[in-house]
Amino acid sequence: MGTKYIVKKNDKVGRYCTAGCDLKIGETIFFEEPFSVGPKSGSPAVCLGCYKTLYDSITVCDKCSWPVCSSNCSKEELHSKNECEIFSKVGIKFDANGDPAAQLESITVLRTLLESERNPTTWTNEVLVMESHTEERKVRTELWAAEQANVVDFLHDRCQLNRFNKEIIQRVCGILEVNCFEIVIDEYASIRGLYPNLAILSHNCVANTTHSKIPGTNFKMVVRTTTEVKQGEELFSSYTKSTDPTLVRRMKLSATKYFNCDCKRCSDPTELGTHLNSLKCTKCDNGLVITANPLDNDAPWKCTHCDYGITGAGVQKVYTVIQNELEELELMPFGPERIECGERLLKQYKSVLHPNHAFKLALWHDLSQLYGRAEGYSLDMLPDLMLERKAEMCTNLLKAYDVIEPGYTRLRGLALYELHVSLLLLYRSQYEYKTINTEKFKEQMRKVADILEESGKILSIEPEGTQEAGIGASALQAVEQLRSSVELLKDPEPEQEEKDNKDENAKE
Ligand SMILES: [Zn+2]
Ligand SMILES: [Zn+2]
Ligand SMILES: [Zn+2]
Ligand SMILES: [Zn+2]
Repeated sequence: MGTKYIVKKNDKVGRYCTAGCDLKIGETIFFEEPFSVGPKSGSPAVCLGCYKTLYDSITVCDKCSWPVCSSNCSKEELHSKNECEIFSKVGIKFDANGDPAAQLESITVLRTLLESERNPTTWTNEVLVMESHTEERKVRTELWAAEQANVVDFLHDRCQLNRFNKEIIQRVCGILEVNCFEIVIDEYASIRGLYPNLAILSHNCVANTTHSKIPGTNFKMVVRTTTEVKQGEELFSSYTKSTDPTLVRRMKLSATKYFNCDCKRCSDPTELGTHLNSLKCTKCDNGLVITANPLDNDAPWKCTHCDYGITGAGVQKVYTVIQNELEELELMPFGPERIECGERLLKQYKSVLHPNHAFKLALWHDLSQLYGRAEGYSLDMLPDLMLERKAEMCTNLLKAYDVIEPGYTRLRGLALYELHVSLLLLYRSQYEYKTINTEKFKEQMRKVADILEESGKILSIEPEGTQEAGIGASALQAVEQLRSSVELLKDPEPEQEEKDNKDENAKE
């Protein structure tokens, strides 16, 4: 344990972490390698070496006949020393016609069990002490039964791993479900990893730390602060998507992490004034429909201006419909149709959702990435109107991120970068068409440089080799150039009228 953080214990959350000294914004707290990694629950067919999704045809390992994309991937140690050895010994092959999720469910559990034999100290001191919520999980009979068959009986009986008793296998299932972090592989795929130290940090819907995977390592993470943290203050990470509205976050946390979040953000019906979880009243003009009790997912929702109301279950239904539409959008190719669809959904939700609702945030995020990148919408083709639209969406995003993702967070860094791009082009165009004078242009450009600089500072501390770090480094370079070129701009030229006058004077 370093001096930057101290592990403590209480009855409410069990173990938790506080800052061992004053920590600066963006400061590295610790690095950690995972105890185990592998496919997450409900995984599609993935390569067991590199975890890329295998869409069309499932290619398999020569030795064990489980999915891998290449012979190189079958040699990856995490595969070859774990399931590959066990499965080839007992002759159990992957069934390409069967359900991939059910078959892959056992992989990460198996890897964790085998690692417990190689690394008994960490296993005893750091993994076995983790919460597994066995009793709560038992109550969910269907899931429990599926796991019992696909993982516990499968490993214990069919794979002849009876040196691990069924109780411990089931406990590992729980430990993984409750404590694993998502590891993003690419735009479409993610896996899970067990990081014992990272898992000690309690959850908060407004975190003050973030973690990033370091490219070129075996999923080593760096954990950093996102805001200043004073000595003794608690360190928090987020176990869920911070950009989801309270109702969605709380339902996810309760379903997968077995606790009911009652953090400051969850307790406030307005979500700290962001209104990410507020609806618009359909019966009166100015009313907002908000929940009577944000800490009860089934509480009724009421209008602030008239007597219109809707049940908690009713809101959950509306949310499910919208979430499905947003998920469909996410699957669309990165092109013009996706822009049209996003804009259509924004219009569609206008009468139902608060202007700052979390689901609109998701659409703004998507559209702000598409404007400037999608085919037919490249930056040099965007008319001022669309640049304005892109800038407006980034500004809206940042207003919410300042509250829910404050400080040095990737979301803020990327939104600031996109904002700088749109403003830069917009002001240049305005200057070119003389709708703003040189003085005004210089003033705006200084603001753009500040935005770019902040974005660069945030993104450049991301691990080397990540896309964010690349954007960050070039942002910091560009900001120097931008500042010097702005200051070199000539002072405002005399207005045309004055010139004419001068010319006339000269004649006299
Ligand atoms: Zn592979
Ligand atoms: Zn194999
Ligand atoms: Zn919360
Ligand atoms: Zn109303």
